[in-house]
Amino acid sequence: MNLPQPIETAAAKILVVDDDGFMRMQLRVYLQKEGHRVELATNGEEALTKFAEIKPEVVLLDAVMPVMDGFACCQALMKIYQNPSPLVLMITGLDDEASVDRAFEAGAIDYVTKPIHWAVLRQRVKRLLYQNRLQHQLESVNQMLERLAKVDQLTQLANRRQLELFLDTEWSEAIREQYPFSILLCDIDYFKNYNDHYGHQGGDDCLQQVAKALTRVVHRPKDLAARYGGEEFLIVLPNTDLQGAIHIGEDIQAEITRLAIPHVQSAIADHVTLSIGCASTIPRLGSDWGKLVGAADQYLYEAKAQGRNRLVSGR
Ligand code: GH3
Ligand code: MG
Ligand code: MG
Repeated sequence: MNLPQPIETAAAKILVVDDDGFMRMQLRVYLQKEGHRVELATNGEEALTKFAEIKPEVVLLDAVMPVMDGFACCQALMKIYQNPSPLVLMITGLDDEASVDRAFEAGAIDYVTKPIHWAVLRQRVKRLLYQNRLQHQLESVNQMLERLAKVDQLTQLANRRQLELFLDTEWSEAIREQYPFSILLCDIDYFKNYNDHYGHQGGDDCLQQVAKALTRVVHRPKDLAARYGGEEFLIVLPNTDLQGAIHIGEDIQAEITRLAIPHVQSAIADHVTLSIGCASTIPRLGSDWGKLVGAADQYLYEAKAQGRNRLVSGR
């Protein structure tokens, strides 16, 4: 997991757009001294092309230019690029209300006036970069938290919490649509022995390999593979009947056999095997998924009792 880094406000890619050659040069020299990479454009149209090419973090945009002025260019940028919107700092000729209003209406995030007060420009660029990077950092932390809340860290499968939310939603849908609903409860055979022999790290590696095998077999967008407990995995198969579920269970068994993870302490094979309980139903109004999971657990128990490395199913 990558934790957020401290926010740096140096070294941005900045597009400077101005029709006045001397102004462009001054801005470039100044911003480069601040450590930024600067690209230039001489009017709004050129700015649009350059923007698409280099995707700068900030655009310093002169308001009054021939061909396409800064206001039109800013509007076009906002229309073309959304989420995130381009950061435009407008350079208005005068501090008059009308130009300032037009700049903000066109989508600029801030403005500076000509003649340029360099300290003001420096501070505004710095603040823009700081806010922008802070925003990105917040977004990535949020995404990370969202993921952490849903995913089992060892196997990267759905965790119990996500599984239960998923079951709630899909069960209701199955009641509404009256389609079949199946689950597979898979449990690694003699896993305690595996841990004792190969160590806890070896056990973790095995769980990861089994989890990967499950995701290779369970890949329909509506299906979900989750870590149910220690070495137990629950596969939810909405809109799948018993025959379909048994088929997927057999594919899982085949995939685990193909993996051939050595297990010298298994009493039934020389590699890791799975027992599977498979239950299917058409959910009735007022019912909940708990009973179906209970049934799958019962079939899993029978699979163990019958000698393991097998699938037992029922309705
Ligand atoms: P059976 O064939 O009847 O399923 O027997 P078993 O040994 O697989 O089942 P049991 O429930 O006795 O043991 C499960 C073992 O799984 C015990 C526990 O140490 C191990 N385990 C549970 N979670 C983890 C984990 O996250 N990592 C590792 N390495 N081992 C785990
Ligand atoms: Mg087990
Ligand atoms: Mg178990």
